[in-house]
Amino acid sequence: MRTKRLVGFKHYIRKALSVMPDGWWAAFGEEMTKDLARAVRLDGGQDDFGIVQVKEKYGGLRVYVVGGGDNVSRIIEEYEAKSKRTCVKCGKPAKWISYGWICPYCDECAAAIHNLAYPIEQQED
Ligand SMILES: [Zn+2]
Repeated sequence: MRTKRLVGFKHYIRKALSVMPDGWWAAFGEEMTKDLARAVRLDGGQDDFGIVQVKEKYGGLRVYVVGGGDNVSRIIEEYEAKSKRTCVKCGKPAKWISYGWICPYCDECAAAIHNLAYPIEQQED
């Protein structure tokens, strides 16, 4: 993966993560980039690490990687949990989960979808 070294490892991670929904990116995208880059280093190297896919699934962030170890897993779990409490649209703390295509929303963004959402406390995670 020569490209990663050419453009810089942190830049590679930032670019891969930046496809996540706007609200999450605004809330913790840069922080997650930094934490993940550090975790890869702690786990012993950048050469065999790659981000395969970044997406939203069932109202939470999913990050699929190859390589990395315990530190990488811990950071990804941490941010996947955080995403479920963060408005997918604007990045404020989420209080609602939308029906249908489930996603977390803050008060304002839930109002904008006409409250087709239920309070987040009802959902166990
Ligand atoms: Zn919002």
